[in-house]
Amino acid sequence: MAKGGPRNPMPHQDPKVRATNFEEVAMGYTEAMALDEAQRCLGCKAHPCVKGCPVNVHIPDFIAKIKDGDYIGASEEIKLTNALPSVCGRVCPQENQCEKHCILGIKGEPVAIGRLERFVADYQAASEKEKPEFKPLDASLAKYKVAVVGTGPSGLTVAADLAKLGYSVTMFEALHKIGGVLRYGIPEFRLPRTVLDAEIDYVKSLGVTILPNIIVGRTFKVKDLLEQGYDAVFVGSGAGAPKMMKIPGEGAAGIYSGNEWLTRINLMRAYSDDYDTPIRKPKKVCVIGAGNTAMDCTRTALRVGAESVTIVYRRGREEMPARAEEIENAEEEGVVFKLLTNPKRFIADEDGAVCAMECLKMELGEPDDSGRRRPVPVEGSEFNIECDTVIVALGQNPNPLIRTTTEGLECQSWGGIIIDEETGMTNIPGLFAGGDAVTGEATVILAMGAGKVAAKGIDNYIKSKYNL
Ligand code: FAD
Ligand code: SF4
Repeated sequence: MAKGGPRNPMPHQDPKVRATNFEEVAMGYTEAMALDEAQRCLGCKAHPCVKGCPVNVHIPDFIAKIKDGDYIGASEEIKLTNALPSVCGRVCPQENQCEKHCILGIKGEPVAIGRLERFVADYQAASEKEKPEFKPLDASLAKYKVAVVGTGPSGLTVAADLAKLGYSVTMFEALHKIGGVLRYGIPEFRLPRTVLDAEIDYVKSLGVTILPNIIVGRTFKVKDLLEQGYDAVFVGSGAGAPKMMKIPGEGAAGIYSGNEWLTRINLMRAYSDDYDTPIRKPKKVCVIGAGNTAMDCTRTALRVGAESVTIVYRRGREEMPARAEEIENAEEEGVVFKLLTNPKRFIADEDGAVCAMECLKMELGEPDDSGRRRPVPVEGSEFNIECDTVIVALGQNPNPLIRTTTEGLECQSWGGIIIDEETGMTNIPGLFAGGDAVTGEATVILAMGAGKVAAKGIDNYIKSKYNL
Protein backbone atom coordinates (compact mmCIF):
# COMPACT_ATOMS: atom_id res chain seq x y z
CA MET A 1 0.00 0.00 0.00
CA ALA A 2 2.47 2.64 1.29
CA LYS A 3 2.63 6.18 -0.10
CA GLY A 4 -0.45 7.77 -1.60
CA GLY A 5 -2.72 4.78 -0.91
CA PRO A 6 -5.14 4.11 1.95
CA ARG A 7 -3.89 3.26 5.45
CA ASN A 8 -3.22 -0.34 6.42
CA PRO A 9 -6.37 -1.78 7.99
CA MET A 10 -6.23 -3.15 11.56
CA PRO A 11 -6.74 -6.94 11.72
CA HIS A 12 -9.67 -7.84 14.01
CA GLN A 13 -11.09 -11.02 15.50
CA ASP A 14 -14.18 -12.14 13.58
CA PRO A 15 -17.23 -10.32 15.09
CA LYS A 16 -19.25 -13.53 15.69
CA VAL A 17 -16.36 -15.22 17.46
CA ARG A 18 -15.16 -12.24 19.47
CA ALA A 19 -18.64 -11.44 20.85
CA THR A 20 -18.34 -14.67 22.86
CA ASN A 21 -14.87 -14.15 24.34
CA PHE A 22 -12.81 -11.58 26.28
CA GLU A 23 -9.74 -11.83 24.01
CA GLU A 24 -8.50 -8.60 22.43
CA VAL A 25 -10.65 -7.54 19.46
CA ALA A 26 -8.04 -5.52 17.52
CA MET A 27 -5.04 -7.75 16.94
CA GLY A 28 -2.36 -5.14 16.11
CA TYR A 29 -0.13 -4.55 13.10
CA THR A 30 2.46 -7.08 12.00
CA GLU A 31 5.99 -5.76 11.42
CA ALA A 32 5.35 -5.69 7.64
CA MET A 33 2.16 -3.65 8.12
CA ALA A 34 3.89 -1.22 10.49
CA LEU A 35 6.79 -0.69 8.08
CA ASP A 36 4.39 -0.16 5.20
CA GLU A 37 2.22 2.25 7.19
CA ALA A 38 5.28 4.22 8.38
CA GLN A 39 6.26 4.74 4.72
CA ARG A 40 3.06 6.76 4.25
CA CYS A 41 4.30 9.46 6.68
CA LEU A 42 5.73 12.53 4.93
CA GLY A 43 7.78 13.61 7.96
CA CYS A 44 6.29 17.12 7.72
CA LYS A 45 8.61 19.83 9.08
CA ALA A 46 5.68 21.73 10.64
CA HIS A 47 4.41 18.43 12.20
CA PRO A 48 0.71 19.42 12.50
CA CYS A 49 -0.06 15.99 13.99
CA VAL A 50 1.97 16.84 17.15
CA LYS A 51 -0.23 19.89 17.76
CA GLY A 52 -3.21 17.53 18.01
CA CYS A 53 -1.57 15.43 20.75
CA PRO A 54 -2.27 16.61 24.33
CA VAL A 55 1.07 15.15 25.52
CA ASN A 56 3.10 16.30 22.48
CA VAL A 57 4.45 12.94 21.35
CA HIS A 58 7.18 13.60 18.72
CA ILE A 59 5.20 11.80 16.06
CA PRO A 60 7.30 12.27 12.88
CA ASP A 61 10.46 11.35 14.86
CA PHE A 62 9.08 8.06 16.17
CA ILE A 63 7.69 7.17 12.76
CA ALA A 64 11.09 7.93 11.15
CA LYS A 65 12.64 5.41 13.58
CA ILE A 66 10.10 2.78 12.48
CA LYS A 67 11.13 3.38 8.86
CA ASP A 68 14.72 2.59 9.96
CA GLY A 69 13.54 -0.60 11.69
CA ASP A 70 14.53 0.86 15.11
CA TYR A 71 11.33 -0.10 16.98
CA ILE A 72 12.81 0.17 20.48
CA GLY A 73 14.15 3.63 19.60
CA ALA A 74 10.68 4.59 18.34
CA SER A 75 9.08 3.41 21.58
CA GLU A 76 11.65 5.30 23.67
CA GLU A 77 10.96 8.42 21.59
CA ILE A 78 7.26 8.17 22.52
CA LYS A 79 8.08 7.52 26.18
CA LEU A 80 9.94 10.84 26.37
CA THR A 81 6.50 12.43 26.70
CA ASN A 82 4.03 9.56 27.16
CA ALA A 83 4.44 6.92 29.90
CA LEU A 84 1.55 4.76 28.64
CA PRO A 85 2.02 4.24 24.86
CA SER A 86 0.54 0.73 24.65
CA VAL A 87 -2.57 2.01 26.43
CA CYS A 88 -2.86 5.16 24.29
CA GLY A 89 -2.25 3.22 21.07
CA ARG A 90 -5.34 1.21 21.97
CA VAL A 91 -7.84 3.57 23.57
CA CYS A 92 -7.09 7.16 22.46
CA PRO A 93 -9.61 8.77 20.10
CA GLN A 94 -6.84 9.52 17.58
CA GLU A 95 -9.42 10.44 14.95
CA ASN A 96 -10.14 13.60 17.00
CA GLN A 97 -6.52 14.28 17.93
CA CYS A 98 -3.21 13.65 16.11
CA GLU A 99 -4.78 11.89 13.12
CA LYS A 100 -7.32 14.69 12.68
CA HIS A 101 -4.41 17.07 12.03
CA CYS A 102 -2.38 14.74 9.78
CA ILE A 103 -1.76 16.38 6.41
CA LEU A 104 -2.65 13.18 4.54
CA GLY A 105 -6.18 13.40 5.96
CA ILE A 106 -6.96 16.45 3.79
CA LYS A 107 -7.28 14.40 0.61
CA GLY A 108 -7.24 10.83 1.86
CA GLU A 109 -6.68 8.81 5.02
CA PRO A 110 -4.35 10.08 7.78
CA VAL A 111 -1.34 8.02 8.85
CA ALA A 112 -2.52 5.38 11.38
CA ILE A 113 -0.49 7.02 14.17
CA GLY A 114 -2.22 5.17 17.02
CA ARG A 115 -1.69 1.76 15.43
CA LEU A 116 2.01 2.53 14.92
CA GLU A 117 2.29 3.72 18.52
CA ARG A 118 0.76 0.47 19.70
CA PHE A 119 3.06 -1.60 17.48
CA VAL A 120 6.32 -0.14 18.79
CA ALA A 121 5.21 -0.07 22.44
CA ASP A 122 4.13 -3.72 22.26
CA TYR A 123 7.37 -4.59 20.46
CA GLN A 124 9.41 -3.06 23.26
CA ALA A 125 7.30 -4.72 25.97
CA ALA A 126 7.91 -8.09 24.31
CA SER A 127 11.70 -7.43 24.20
CA GLU A 128 12.28 -7.24 27.97
CA LYS A 129 16.05 -7.55 27.74
CA GLU A 130 16.37 -4.50 25.53
CA LYS A 131 14.83 -2.11 28.09
CA PRO A 132 17.35 0.67 28.78
CA GLU A 133 18.31 1.21 32.45
CA PHE A 134 16.59 4.21 34.06
CA LYS A 135 18.55 7.11 35.58
CA PRO A 136 16.74 10.19 36.97
CA LEU A 137 17.70 13.59 35.60
CA ASP A 138 18.77 14.98 38.98
CA ALA A 139 19.28 12.46 41.83
CA SER A 140 19.58 15.30 44.39
CA LEU A 141 15.80 15.91 44.09
CA ALA A 142 15.10 12.55 45.78
CA LYS A 143 14.82 14.24 49.18
CA TYR A 144 11.65 16.05 48.03
CA LYS A 145 8.50 13.94 48.39
CA VAL A 146 5.34 14.08 46.30
CA ALA A 147 2.10 12.19 47.03
CA VAL A 148 -0.29 11.21 44.23
CA VAL A 149 -3.90 10.29 45.04
CA GLY A 150 -5.35 7.87 42.47
CA THR A 151 -3.58 5.61 39.99
CA GLY A 152 -5.50 6.42 36.80
CA PRO A 153 -3.76 7.89 33.74
CA SER A 154 -3.46 11.40 35.25
CA GLY A 155 -1.81 10.12 38.43
CA LEU A 156 0.48 7.69 36.59
CA THR A 157 1.63 10.53 34.32
CA VAL A 158 2.39 12.92 37.18
CA ALA A 159 4.24 10.12 38.98
CA ALA A 160 6.29 9.11 35.92
CA ASP A 161 7.24 12.69 34.96
CA LEU A 162 8.31 13.62 38.51
CA ALA A 163 10.20 10.36 39.05
CA LYS A 164 12.08 10.96 35.79
CA LEU A 165 13.12 14.38 37.13
CA GLY A 166 14.36 12.71 40.34
CA TYR A 167 11.58 13.29 42.94
CA SER A 168 10.44 10.59 45.42
CA VAL A 169 6.87 9.77 44.47
CA THR A 170 4.30 7.71 46.43
CA MET A 171 0.90 6.88 44.92
CA PHE A 172 -2.18 6.04 47.03
CA GLU A 173 -5.01 4.00 45.50
CA ALA A 174 -8.42 3.27 47.05
CA LEU A 175 -8.92 -0.02 45.18
CA HIS A 176 -6.89 -3.20 45.54
CA LYS A 177 -5.73 -2.93 41.91
CA ILE A 178 -3.87 -0.16 40.09
CA GLY A 179 -4.87 1.75 36.93
CA GLY A 180 -8.18 3.56 37.61
CA VAL A 181 -10.67 3.35 34.73
CA LEU A 182 -8.02 1.57 32.66
CA ARG A 183 -8.47 -1.34 35.10
CA TYR A 184 -12.07 -1.25 36.31
CA GLY A 185 -13.80 0.48 33.36
CA ILE A 186 -12.23 -0.38 30.00
CA PRO A 187 -12.77 -4.10 29.29
CA GLU A 188 -9.98 -6.59 28.63
CA PHE A 189 -11.07 -7.12 25.03
CA ARG A 190 -10.03 -3.51 24.37
CA LEU A 191 -7.10 -3.29 26.77
CA PRO A 192 -5.58 -6.62 27.85
CA ARG A 193 -4.49 -6.57 31.49
CA THR A 194 -1.02 -7.88 30.59
CA VAL A 195 -0.54 -4.70 28.52
CA LEU A 196 -1.76 -2.48 31.35
CA ASP A 197 0.39 -4.35 33.91
CA ALA A 198 3.48 -3.86 31.73
CA GLU A 199 2.92 -0.09 31.55
CA ILE A 200 2.34 0.14 35.31
CA ASP A 201 5.56 -1.87 35.81
CA TYR A 202 7.32 0.73 33.66
CA VAL A 203 6.13 3.52 36.00
CA LYS A 204 7.28 1.43 38.99
CA SER A 205 10.65 0.89 37.27
CA LEU A 206 11.15 4.66 37.47
CA GLY A 207 11.21 4.28 41.27
CA VAL A 208 7.56 5.18 42.01
CA THR A 209 6.03 3.52 45.12
CA ILE A 210 2.37 2.46 44.69
CA LEU A 211 0.25 1.70 47.77
CA PRO A 212 -3.22 0.15 47.13
CA ASN A 213 -6.17 -0.15 49.55
CA ILE A 214 -5.81 3.40 50.93
CA ILE A 215 -8.82 5.69 50.63
CA VAL A 216 -7.55 9.24 50.99
CA GLY A 217 -10.22 11.16 52.88
CA ARG A 218 -10.89 8.12 55.08
CA THR A 219 -7.58 6.40 55.94
CA PHE A 220 -6.11 9.92 56.21
CA LYS A 221 -6.86 13.29 54.64
CA VAL A 222 -5.16 15.21 51.84
CA LYS A 223 -4.04 17.87 54.31
CA ASP A 224 -2.46 15.19 56.56
CA LEU A 225 -0.17 14.36 53.64
CA LEU A 226 0.89 18.01 53.28
CA GLU A 227 1.46 18.26 57.02
CA GLN A 228 3.35 14.97 57.23
CA GLY A 229 6.30 15.78 55.04
CA TYR A 230 5.02 15.68 51.46
CA ASP A 231 6.14 18.81 49.60
CA ALA A 232 3.23 18.59 47.17
CA VAL A 233 0.13 16.44 46.62
CA PHE A 234 -1.58 15.69 43.31
CA VAL A 235 -5.23 14.60 43.33
CA GLY A 236 -6.19 12.47 40.32
CA SER A 237 -9.18 10.76 41.88
CA GLY A 238 -11.23 10.64 38.67
CA ALA A 239 -14.99 10.79 38.21
CA GLY A 240 -16.40 7.65 39.75
CA ALA A 241 -19.87 8.80 40.92
CA PRO A 242 -22.43 7.67 38.31
CA LYS A 243 -25.22 9.88 36.96
CA MET A 244 -28.58 8.09 37.03
CA MET A 245 -31.85 8.77 35.14
CA LYS A 246 -33.77 9.80 38.29
CA ILE A 247 -37.05 8.51 36.83
CA PRO A 248 -39.70 6.30 38.50
CA GLY A 249 -38.80 2.65 39.04
CA GLU A 250 -35.02 3.09 38.97
CA GLY A 251 -34.67 1.08 42.21
CA ALA A 252 -35.91 -2.16 40.55
CA ALA A 253 -33.62 -5.20 40.63
CA GLY A 254 -31.60 -5.67 37.43
CA ILE A 255 -30.82 -1.95 36.97
CA TYR A 256 -27.11 -1.13 37.20
CA SER A 257 -25.01 1.96 36.72
CA GLY A 258 -22.44 1.52 33.94
CA ASN A 259 -19.64 1.75 36.52
CA GLU A 260 -21.06 -0.99 38.73
CA TRP A 261 -21.68 -3.30 35.78
CA LEU A 262 -18.16 -2.84 34.39
CA THR A 263 -16.47 -3.03 37.81
CA ARG A 264 -18.16 -6.37 38.52
CA ILE A 265 -17.01 -7.74 35.19
CA ASN A 266 -13.60 -6.11 34.62
CA LEU A 267 -12.20 -5.75 38.12
CA MET A 268 -14.04 -8.57 39.89
CA ARG A 269 -14.15 -10.97 36.91
CA ALA A 270 -17.83 -11.89 37.26
CA TYR A 271 -17.67 -13.72 33.90
CA SER A 272 -15.13 -16.24 35.20
CA ASP A 273 -16.11 -19.40 37.11
CA ASP A 274 -12.98 -18.87 39.23
CA TYR A 275 -14.53 -15.78 40.87
CA ASP A 276 -17.58 -15.52 43.19
CA THR A 277 -18.68 -12.05 41.98
CA PRO A 278 -22.45 -12.20 41.35
CA ILE A 279 -23.91 -10.74 38.16
CA ARG A 280 -27.34 -11.11 36.61
CA LYS A 281 -27.33 -13.58 33.70
CA PRO A 282 -28.95 -11.21 31.22
CA LYS A 283 -31.26 -12.10 28.33
CA LYS A 284 -32.62 -8.79 27.06
CA VAL A 285 -30.35 -5.89 27.92
CA CYS A 286 -30.96 -2.17 27.43
CA VAL A 287 -28.02 0.22 27.82
CA ILE A 288 -28.97 3.88 28.21
CA GLY A 289 -26.43 6.34 26.74
CA ALA A 290 -24.02 6.31 23.77
CA GLY A 291 -20.57 7.20 25.13
CA ASN A 292 -17.54 4.94 25.55
CA THR A 293 -18.92 3.55 28.81
CA ALA A 294 -22.20 2.63 27.10
CA MET A 295 -20.37 0.83 24.26
CA ASP A 296 -18.27 -1.12 26.77
CA CYS A 297 -21.41 -2.08 28.70
CA THR A 298 -23.15 -3.39 25.56
CA ARG A 299 -20.17 -5.45 24.46
CA THR A 300 -19.54 -6.96 27.91
CA ALA A 301 -23.27 -7.83 28.13
CA LEU A 302 -22.93 -9.80 24.87
CA ARG A 303 -19.88 -11.58 26.24
CA VAL A 304 -21.68 -12.70 29.43
CA GLY A 305 -24.37 -14.31 27.26
CA ALA A 306 -27.10 -11.71 26.59
CA GLU A 307 -29.48 -12.72 23.77
CA SER A 308 -30.13 -9.14 22.69
CA VAL A 309 -28.48 -5.83 23.58
CA THR A 310 -30.02 -2.49 22.68
CA ILE A 311 -28.54 1.00 23.04
CA VAL A 312 -31.26 3.51 23.93
CA TYR A 313 -30.12 7.06 23.16
CA ARG A 314 -32.11 10.27 23.14
CA ARG A 315 -30.19 11.96 20.29
CA GLY A 316 -29.20 10.81 16.78
CA ARG A 317 -26.22 8.90 15.43
CA GLU A 318 -24.11 11.97 14.70
CA GLU A 319 -24.36 13.12 18.29
CA MET A 320 -23.17 9.81 19.81
CA PRO A 321 -20.08 10.69 21.91
CA ALA A 322 -18.32 7.28 21.80
CA ARG A 323 -15.22 6.70 19.63
CA ALA A 324 -16.22 5.88 16.03
CA GLU A 325 -14.31 2.57 16.17
CA GLU A 326 -16.17 1.44 19.32
CA ILE A 327 -19.56 2.22 17.74
CA GLU A 328 -18.59 0.22 14.63
CA ASN A 329 -17.31 -2.68 16.74
CA ALA A 330 -20.50 -2.79 18.80
CA GLU A 331 -22.64 -2.74 15.66
CA GLU A 332 -20.62 -5.53 14.03
CA GLU A 333 -21.08 -7.65 17.16
CA GLY A 334 -24.87 -7.33 16.92
CA VAL A 335 -25.76 -4.43 19.23
CA VAL A 336 -29.00 -2.72 18.14
CA PHE A 337 -29.23 1.11 18.27
CA LYS A 338 -32.57 2.62 19.25
CA LEU A 339 -31.89 6.31 18.63
CA LEU A 340 -34.07 9.37 19.38
CA THR A 341 -35.58 7.40 22.26
CA ASN A 342 -35.61 8.27 25.97
CA PRO A 343 -36.85 6.19 28.93
CA LYS A 344 -39.73 7.70 30.92
CA ARG A 345 -40.06 5.06 33.66
CA PHE A 346 -38.92 1.55 34.52
CA ILE A 347 -41.53 -1.19 34.96
CA ALA A 348 -40.93 -4.02 37.46
CA ASP A 349 -42.55 -7.49 37.67
CA GLU A 350 -44.18 -8.92 40.81
CA ASP A 351 -40.72 -9.85 42.20
CA GLY A 352 -39.50 -6.27 41.91
CA ALA A 353 -37.20 -6.99 38.96
CA VAL A 354 -37.17 -4.77 35.90
CA CYS A 355 -39.17 -6.26 32.99
CA ALA A 356 -39.69 -3.25 30.67
CA MET A 357 -38.98 0.42 30.09
CA GLU A 358 -41.60 2.89 29.02
CA CYS A 359 -39.94 5.19 26.47
CA LEU A 360 -40.75 8.35 24.55
CA LYS A 361 -39.75 9.09 20.97
CA MET A 362 -37.64 12.25 20.56
CA GLU A 363 -36.89 14.70 17.79
CA LEU A 364 -33.95 17.09 17.46
CA GLY A 365 -34.48 20.81 18.08
CA GLU A 366 -32.05 23.75 18.24
CA PRO A 367 -28.42 23.22 19.42
CA ASP A 368 -27.92 23.35 23.21
CA ASP A 369 -24.89 24.50 25.29
CA SER A 370 -22.90 21.44 24.13
CA GLY A 371 -23.40 22.51 20.48
CA ARG A 372 -25.41 19.35 19.80
CA ARG A 373 -29.06 19.55 18.75
CA ARG A 374 -31.35 19.36 21.75
CA PRO A 375 -33.62 16.28 21.96
CA VAL A 376 -37.30 17.21 22.36
CA PRO A 377 -39.95 14.61 23.40
CA VAL A 378 -42.68 13.79 20.87
CA GLU A 379 -45.92 14.11 22.80
CA GLY A 380 -48.04 10.94 23.06
CA SER A 381 -45.29 8.74 21.56
CA GLU A 382 -44.92 6.41 24.59
CA PHE A 383 -44.04 2.77 23.89
CA ASN A 384 -42.53 -0.12 25.91
CA ILE A 385 -39.27 -1.99 25.41
CA GLU A 386 -39.05 -5.39 27.16
CA CYS A 387 -35.85 -6.03 29.12
CA ASP A 388 -34.55 -7.93 32.15
CA THR A 389 -31.35 -5.90 32.63
CA VAL A 390 -30.84 -2.16 32.31
CA ILE A 391 -27.45 -0.44 32.44
CA VAL A 392 -27.54 3.32 32.92
CA ALA A 393 -24.39 4.73 31.29
CA LEU A 394 -24.91 8.50 31.31
CA GLY A 395 -21.47 9.50 32.54
CA GLN A 396 -19.92 10.17 35.92
CA ASN A 397 -19.20 13.09 38.21
CA PRO A 398 -16.25 13.32 40.63
CA ASN A 399 -16.67 11.35 43.85
CA PRO A 400 -17.37 13.90 46.66
CA LEU A 401 -14.99 12.34 49.24
CA ILE A 402 -11.88 14.46 48.60
CA ARG A 403 -13.97 17.62 48.24
CA THR A 404 -15.87 17.06 51.49
CA THR A 405 -12.79 16.08 53.52
CA THR A 406 -10.42 18.82 52.31
CA GLU A 407 -11.43 21.97 54.14
CA GLY A 408 -11.32 25.13 52.04
CA LEU A 409 -10.81 23.36 48.67
CA GLU A 410 -12.57 25.34 45.93
CA CYS A 411 -14.76 23.23 43.65
CA GLN A 412 -17.37 23.72 40.91
CA SER A 413 -21.05 23.37 41.89
CA TRP A 414 -21.07 19.92 40.18
CA GLY A 415 -18.03 18.78 42.14
CA GLY A 416 -15.05 19.35 39.79
CA ILE A 417 -11.93 20.65 41.62
CA ILE A 418 -10.97 24.18 40.50
CA ILE A 419 -7.34 24.61 39.42
CA ASP A 420 -5.06 27.17 37.80
CA GLU A 421 -4.93 25.92 34.18
CA GLU A 422 -1.27 26.94 33.79
CA THR A 423 0.09 25.08 36.82
CA GLY A 424 -2.57 22.59 37.88
CA MET A 425 -2.51 24.03 41.44
CA THR A 426 -5.73 24.36 43.46
CA ASN A 427 -6.43 27.31 45.78
CA ILE A 428 -4.50 25.41 48.51
CA PRO A 429 -0.71 25.93 48.16
CA GLY A 430 1.07 22.66 47.31
CA LEU A 431 -2.18 20.86 46.41
CA PHE A 432 -2.54 20.10 42.68
CA ALA A 433 -5.25 18.27 40.75
CA GLY A 434 -6.04 17.08 37.23
CA GLY A 435 -7.88 14.62 35.01
CA ASP A 436 -11.54 13.71 35.43
CA ALA A 437 -11.54 15.01 39.04
CA VAL A 438 -11.22 18.49 37.50
CA THR A 439 -13.00 18.20 34.14
CA GLY A 440 -15.60 15.48 34.78
CA GLU A 441 -15.44 12.38 32.57
CA ALA A 442 -13.14 13.09 29.59
CA THR A 443 -10.42 10.99 27.93
CA VAL A 444 -7.27 9.11 28.89
CA ILE A 445 -5.01 11.43 26.92
CA LEU A 446 -6.59 14.61 28.32
CA ALA A 447 -6.08 13.20 31.83
CA MET A 448 -2.46 12.50 30.90
CA GLY A 449 -2.06 16.01 29.43
CA ALA A 450 -3.37 17.43 32.73
CA GLY A 451 -0.88 15.19 34.57
CA LYS A 452 1.98 16.67 32.54
CA VAL A 453 0.88 20.24 33.32
CA ALA A 454 0.66 19.41 37.05
CA ALA A 455 4.05 17.64 37.07
CA LYS A 456 5.63 20.79 35.64
CA GLY A 457 3.66 22.92 38.13
CA ILE A 458 4.84 20.75 41.06
CA ASP A 459 8.46 20.85 39.87
CA ASN A 460 8.34 24.67 39.67
CA TYR A 461 6.50 24.93 43.02
CA ILE A 462 9.07 22.81 44.89
CA LYS A 463 12.03 24.50 43.21
CA SER A 464 10.77 27.99 44.04
CA LYS A 465 9.82 26.95 47.62
CA TYR A 466 13.37 25.73 48.32
CA ASN A 467 15.18 28.21 46.03
CA LEU A 468 16.63 25.36 43.96
P1 FAD B 1 -9.40 7.56 36.79
O1 FAD B 1 -8.96 6.75 35.66
O2 FAD B 1 -10.85 7.58 37.12
O3 FAD B 1 -8.60 7.09 38.08
C1 FAD B 1 -8.88 7.62 39.35
C2 FAD B 1 -8.32 6.68 40.41
O4 FAD B 1 -8.39 7.32 41.68
C3 FAD B 1 -9.12 5.39 40.54
O5 FAD B 1 -8.24 4.29 40.54
C4 FAD B 1 -9.82 5.55 41.89
O6 FAD B 1 -10.03 4.30 42.54
C5 FAD B 1 -8.82 6.39 42.64
N1 FAD B 1 -9.41 7.15 43.74
C6 FAD B 1 -10.58 7.84 43.74
N2 FAD B 1 -10.78 8.41 44.93
C7 FAD B 1 -9.72 8.06 45.70
C8 FAD B 1 -9.38 8.33 47.05
N3 FAD B 1 -10.16 9.08 47.83
N4 FAD B 1 -8.23 7.79 47.55
C9 FAD B 1 -7.42 7.03 46.76
N5 FAD B 1 -7.71 6.75 45.48
C10 FAD B 1 -8.84 7.26 44.96
N6 FAD B 1 -11.13 7.50 27.45
C11 FAD B 1 -10.44 7.33 26.28
O7 FAD B 1 -9.60 8.15 25.95
N7 FAD B 1 -10.68 6.26 25.47
C12 FAD B 1 -11.56 5.29 25.80
O8 FAD B 1 -11.74 4.34 25.05
C13 FAD B 1 -12.27 5.42 27.04
N8 FAD B 1 -13.16 4.47 27.44
C14 FAD B 1 -13.76 4.59 28.65
C15 FAD B 1 -14.59 3.56 29.09
C16 FAD B 1 -15.21 3.64 30.32
C17 FAD B 1 -16.07 2.51 30.77
C18 FAD B 1 -15.02 4.80 31.14
C19 FAD B 1 -15.69 4.91 32.49
C20 FAD B 1 -14.20 5.83 30.71
C21 FAD B 1 -13.56 5.72 29.47
N9 FAD B 1 -12.70 6.72 29.03
C22 FAD B 1 -12.03 6.56 27.85
C23 FAD B 1 -12.42 7.90 29.87
C24 FAD B 1 -11.07 7.74 30.60
O9 FAD B 1 -10.91 6.42 31.04
C25 FAD B 1 -10.97 8.71 31.76
O10 FAD B 1 -11.14 10.01 31.25
C26 FAD B 1 -9.60 8.61 32.46
O11 FAD B 1 -9.37 7.31 32.97
C27 FAD B 1 -9.51 9.63 33.60
O12 FAD B 1 -8.28 9.44 34.26
P2 FAD B 1 -8.04 9.96 35.74
O13 FAD B 1 -6.62 9.69 36.05
O14 FAD B 1 -8.53 11.35 35.87
O15 FAD B 1 -9.00 9.10 36.68
FE1 SF4 C 1 3.43 12.16 9.21
FE2 SF4 C 1 0.83 13.02 9.08
FE3 SF4 C 1 2.45 13.95 11.03
FE4 SF4 C 1 2.89 14.72 8.44
S1 SF4 C 1 1.08 15.21 9.71
S2 SF4 C 1 4.44 14.07 9.99
S3 SF4 C 1 2.28 12.82 7.37
S4 SF4 C 1 1.80 11.78 10.73
